[in-house]
Amino acid sequence: MKKRSRIILICILGVLIAAHLGLFLFPFKELKEFKNSPYSTVYYDCNGQLLQISSLEDGSRREKLEWKELPKELKRIFIQAEDKRFYFHNGSDLPALVNALFQNLKHKKVVRGGSTITMQLVKIICGDKDLTVKRKLHDIFYAHVIETKFSKKKILELYLNSLYFGQGATGCASAARTFYGCSLDKLSKEQLCCLAVIPRNPTLYNPFTNRHNCAERACALYNRIYRKALTVNEFEQFLPERAFSYPFEAPHYIRDVAAKEASADSKSLTLSINLELQNYAERIVRDALEQAQGSRISNASLLLIDNKTGKVLSWIGSADFFDELHNGQIDGVLVKNQPGSSMKPFLYALALETKTEDGKPLYEPSSIIADIPQEFGDQKLYIPSNFNNRYNGPVRFRIALASSLNVPAVSILNTIGVNNYLEKLYSLGFDSLKHGGELADLGLALGAGEVTLKELVTAFAIFARDGKDFYGNQIYREDTARIIASILSDKGARALGFGYSQTFETNYPSIFKTGTSNQYQDIVALGSTMDYTIGVWMGNFSGETVVGKTGSSLPAWIAKKVMDYLEEGKPLTSERQFPEPGNYVRQKICSLSGHLAGPDCPASVYEYISKDSLTTKENCSWHQKKNGELLTLYPPEYQQWARKTRPELQIKYSDSPLYIKTPKDNSLFYYSQLQKEKQAITVEVFGGTEDSLYVYYDNEPFTQVFRPFCFTLPVERGNHSCTVICGYESDEINFTVK
Ligand SMILES: [Zn+2]
Repeated sequence: MKKRSRIILICILGVLIAAHLGLFLFPFKELKEFKNSPYSTVYYDCNGQLLQISSLEDGSRREKLEWKELPKELKRIFIQAEDKRFYFHNGSDLPALVNALFQNLKHKKVVRGGSTITMQLVKIICGDKDLTVKRKLHDIFYAHVIETKFSKKKILELYLNSLYFGQGATGCASAARTFYGCSLDKLSKEQLCCLAVIPRNPTLYNPFTNRHNCAERACALYNRIYRKALTVNEFEQFLPERAFSYPFEAPHYIRDVAAKEASADSKSLTLSINLELQNYAERIVRDALEQAQGSRISNASLLLIDNKTGKVLSWIGSADFFDELHNGQIDGVLVKNQPGSSMKPFLYALALETKTEDGKPLYEPSSIIADIPQEFGDQKLYIPSNFNNRYNGPVRFRIALASSLNVPAVSILNTIGVNNYLEKLYSLGFDSLKHGGELADLGLALGAGEVTLKELVTAFAIFARDGKDFYGNQIYREDTARIIASILSDKGARALGFGYSQTFETNYPSIFKTGTSNQYQDIVALGSTMDYTIGVWMGNFSGETVVGKTGSSLPAWIAKKVMDYLEEGKPLTSERQFPEPGNYVRQKICSLSGHLAGPDCPASVYEYISKDSLTTKENCSWHQKKNGELLTLYPPEYQQWARKTRPELQIKYSDSPLYIKTPKDNSLFYYSQLQKEKQAITVEVFGGTEDSLYVYYDNEPFTQVFRPFCFTLPVERGNHSCTVICGYESDEINFTVK
C-alpha cells in the first residue's frame, strides 16, 4: 500500500513535471515579437530638463519602467483592481471565472471577464480583443504557458508597461506623463486609482471626455482598497485636467543621436545639450531670419560645442523643423555646403608650418604675399578676384588672412600644393572632402570643396585647443594655432577686407572667421572663445543665391550674440585669453615690407617673428631717404600693379571708417506726384581713406564723386540699395520709396 501510493505520487509528480515542461517548451511565437516591441526613449538635457520622449511608429509613447522603479502602491492597486489572487494562481483563476460566469448570466450580458493579469497580458501579446469562449480558452492556456516561462514579477512588469490607456499612452509611466504630466512616483493613491480604471475601456473611462465615468469607477476602487468613503464628487478633484503637451526640443540633434545610439535598452539618455542655451540660440536664429526678410535667406543652422570636451551644447538643424516650405527637416549641421573663406585659417596654418628646402619657415605672419592679378595652374587658368574686386599689391600674411583676400590664399595653396593641403584637411576631420575634394583644386583655397558645418566647427575649435583635435592628436603646432588665433582676433588687420565692422567686436577674447560660397549660396560664420566654438550657416536648402541684401553679416551676428550670452560678464582670467606663441618674439616691422622696421619706415607694427629666423631677418629696404625725400621702392613684381592702380606708391591706413551718414539704412521715402522734378534723395558719406568714391545704385555703377562725398539718387518707387566704395572700404544702405 505504502509502495503503491509512493508510485502513484511519483506518477502524479511526473505528470505534473511533464505538463510543466510541456507548457514551458510550448511555442508561443507572438511572445518573442512582443518581448522585442519597442519602448520610447526619454531624452534629457545636461541639467535634467526633459527634451523629448520619442514616439513609436504608431505615434504613441511607451516609457519603460523596471520592476524596482514601479511604485509599490501602483502594483497593489492594479492587483486589487484586476486580479486579487495574482500571486496564488498559475495563470487562470477558477473562482474568478465562475464568479464572472454567474455575474454575466445574472445581467444577461458580459459584465466581467474573470481574466487574470496573466490572461490579460496574453490578450495584449496577441493583440486580440475577442470575448468568445474559444478565445477565453486560448488565453487561459497561454497564460499557463507564460507562467512557466516568467516569474510573477516579470509578468506584472510586462503588464504594467504594456497596458494601453488611450491618448497615445502605453504603459503606466507614459500614462502618468500623458494624463498628469509627471513621473509615476509623483502620483497620489487617488491619482493611481484613476489610472488603474482607464485601461478597462480607454474611451469609456477617458478622464478628459468621460470625467464622471472615470471618477465613479476610480472612487469605488479607492474606497474599496483603502476602506474610505469618498463621494464621486469629492473624488473628481483627483482627475487630470488636460493632456500633457510633449516637448520637442533639439529635434535634429536627437534624430542624429537616435540614429547612432539606437538600442532597445537606451530607455533614457542624458545629452550634453543645454536646453536654456538651445532655446536662446533658437530665438537669435529666428531674429536673424526676420532681419533677412526680403533676401533669399530662408534658413539657418547652428552648432555650438565645448572646446574642452567637444560635446554639443546647442544644435539647430534648421530654423523650424516643421516648416515644410523651407525643408525644415533637413539638418543644416550635417548637410554639405561650400564653406567659402571660412576654410582659409586651415590653409594659412599649414602655410606657417611649411618649410623651405633649407629648413626655414616658408611663411611667417610678417611675410609679404602679392595681391596682384595673377594666373595659377598649368592646365587651366585660375584668376581669383578679391571680394571687393580690388588688388592690394603687397600684403602681409596677417592682413591677407584677417581681411580674407583671395589672391594671396590661392597663391599660398599653389605654393604648398593641393595634395598637402587635402591631407591636412583629412586629418582635421573633413571626411566630406574625401569624395571629390581634389576636384576643387586651387579653389580649395577659397573653400570650394563642400563640407558640413559640423566638420567646420570641430576643426575650427583646434585653434583654441593649441592645435590638438578632440582625439588628442597634435594637428597643428601649438604656436601655429596661437598665431592663427592672434590673426583672427586682430581688428586692425581685418579692416582691409571688411572695414571697421562692428560685427566681430566683443568684450572678451574671441576669434571669428566668415565665409561666402563662390556662387553666393551659403554664408558661414565661425567663432571661438577659449571655452566654446560656434558655427552658423545661413542660406536656403534649395541652393538659391542669397547675397545681395544685408544678409552677409547675419551669421556673424548670430554667432556673436550666442557667444555674448555665454561669455559676457565673466571675469577676464588668464584662462580666457588666447595664449601667446612661445617660440616667437614681438618685433617692430615695417607695415609695408614686413621686414624689420628701419628709421625711414613711415609706418611700423609689432609682429611675431620666430626666434629661429630672427637673426636672418632683414631690415626694410623698401623705404629709403634720398636728398631728404622718402622713396618707396617696390620689388619689380609690383611695378605693373603700382603703375595701374597706385601711382603715388603709398598706402595710408585711416582710423576713420567709411559710412553713409544719411539717409539711414531702411529709410522710407514717399513719392509725390506734385513735385516730380524737384525730388531727389541726398546721400552724405563720411570717412574713407581716399579722395574718390564709387557709388552703386541697385548694384549697378551709378557715379563717381570726389570729396566732399555728397550726391543725390533718383526717387523711384520700390526697394533700392546704395553701395559706396572708397579704397578698401564699402558701406551699403537699403531704402524704400512708396
Ligand atoms: Zn619700410
